[in-house]
Amino acid sequence: MAILIDGKKISASVKAQVAQEAASLKAKGLFPGLAVVLVGDDPASRIYVNNKKKACEATGIYSEEYALPKTTTQQQLMELIGRLNDKPEIHGILVQSPLPEALDEAAVVEAISPQKDVDAFHAYNVGKLMQGRPVFQPCTPAGVIELIRSTGTEITGKNCVVIGRSDIVGKPMAMLLLQCNGTVTICHSATKNLKEISSQADILVSAVGKAGFVTADMVKPGAVVIDVGMNRDAEGKLCGDVEFAQVEPIASYITPVPGGVGPMTIAMLMRNTITAAKLQNGMAL
Ligand code: NAP
Repeated sequence: MAILIDGKKISASVKAQVAQEAASLKAKGLFPGLAVVLVGDDPASRIYVNNKKKACEATGIYSEEYALPKTTTQQQLMELIGRLNDKPEIHGILVQSPLPEALDEAAVVEAISPQKDVDAFHAYNVGKLMQGRPVFQPCTPAGVIELIRSTGTEITGKNCVVIGRSDIVGKPMAMLLLQCNGTVTICHSATKNLKEISSQADILVSAVGKAGFVTADMVKPGAVVIDVGMNRDAEGKLCGDVEFAQVEPIASYITPVPGGVGPMTIAMLMRNTITAAKLQNGMAL
């Protein structure tokens, strides 16, 4: 039987550290601030934005929300990003994805000042991560590293398999594991013999987005299994990629969905906002 990795508890402790740091920065006259930009009326995005605002309140980070209509033009959005880049009270800018189809998301990400890019999606920050010298750690993958560390599992020398190669999760996840000296394999939809590869993993991270994708025969007994997936099952209930009932008996540690990776993403966003505030004020990180 695997030990459950409690993302809620671990994220609460990260947020408590962030709150302490925010308080000590405020005592020096620096109020860390995050701007969250939401375009359109996607209900899931609205929930994510509300959760980010709540996390700011809980950690003592100043926040501004910009809720724009679906009809917002690229130019209007770029102008807002420009204003936020120049606004001294704002240290981090987060544009909630997905943007409406008419907008060029990549151009918006590149318009954010790399120093305020708390999602770490800008090419500058992606490059720094590739060089092994990230300024900001990408939130979801950084949260996964915290979860793995919480188990006491040493990443150095371990076979790490990441299923998924998106810019948001799979690729940066692989880079962070590599930085931790893992031996990393990235799998994707064209990977042959996925089961053979995944069942070699000491640490298996699934970021596919398909319910029930990771079955017991894909998992090495004793593996640490991290489920990044956020899907809906046949009854509409939130679930991950991992067939939990099958895999839990053979893994050593496993994350639940919900309550695993999800809460960590926001906690790491708060941490990045503190980093951004320090960076922009010439303070040691
Ligand atoms: P994505 O952009 O759709 O990427 C999915 C990846 O899975 C792709 O690289 C795809 O390969 C790969 N894939 C699809 N079918 C596969 C198959 N049969 N075998 C092997 N690989 C396969 O999704 P994402 O943005 O990375 O997100 C992945 C999941 O994580 C989603 O459920 C999302 O909701 C969740 N998520 C959770 C959090 C959180 O905070 N918990 C944050 C972000 C995302 P190709 O590249 O070859 O198409």
